[in-house]
Amino acid sequence: MIECRACPRLVTWREEVARVKVRRFREWTYWARPVPGFGDPRGRMLIIGLAPAAHGGNRTGRMFTGDRSGDFLYAALDRAGLANQPTSVRRHDGLKLSDVFITAPCRCAPPANKPLPSELERCSAWLDREVALLPRVRVVLALGAIGWGAALSHLQRRGLTLPRPRPQFGHGAVTRITGGPALLGCYHVSQQNTNTGKLTPEMIDAVLARAKELMDETA
Ligand code: SF4
Repeated sequence: MIECRACPRLVTWREEVARVKVRRFREWTYWARPVPGFGDPRGRMLIIGLAPAAHGGNRTGRMFTGDRSGDFLYAALDRAGLANQPTSVRRHDGLKLSDVFITAPCRCAPPANKPLPSELERCSAWLDREVALLPRVRVVLALGAIGWGAALSHLQRRGLTLPRPRPQFGHGAVTRITGGPALLGCYHVSQQNTNTGKLTPEMIDAVLARAKELMDETA
């Protein structure tokens, strides 16, 4: 995956960001490649976000690592007993996840954090191949509507029958799919949501508690 250059617009952007950098990270050599999933490959919870941040995952090479979204997410995972520390600053910083794996439908940092539908479509092959290596997933926690849609499309490609009408994303929404994992929605952990109070620590704590219940229900 990390050698993929299939989306010219994203390749250009991820490399341009790495060349220009921002002042506070000027000493860094940016990762500037697709970012693979991270976590416990035997985890029962799969978190699907959106895409690496330009100066977060695109810099550090690890999902939600080195940015404010990650600060919020990993602190919550730590409180839930799913991480061994609340911070995530760089690869090899000692962070370990337990019973959870984190991935994204788009592996390269997109301009304005907005991948195009064609880019999501192209990158879905990586999602399918990665999830195929995670045999114990019982609940998929989708961060935002794009993650939710990507999870549904992935399950459909696996041959599972989705409920009709197609389930809509909502914070706290749950969809059960026969023969597959439960799907649970949560607002994305972006600063746009966490700085405005749309998503609070208490709200994500409640969602993670629900996810753990669903993991046990469907075990
Ligand atoms: S977004 Fe996905 S498909 Fe496109 S270049 Fe990156 S890894 Fe490849």
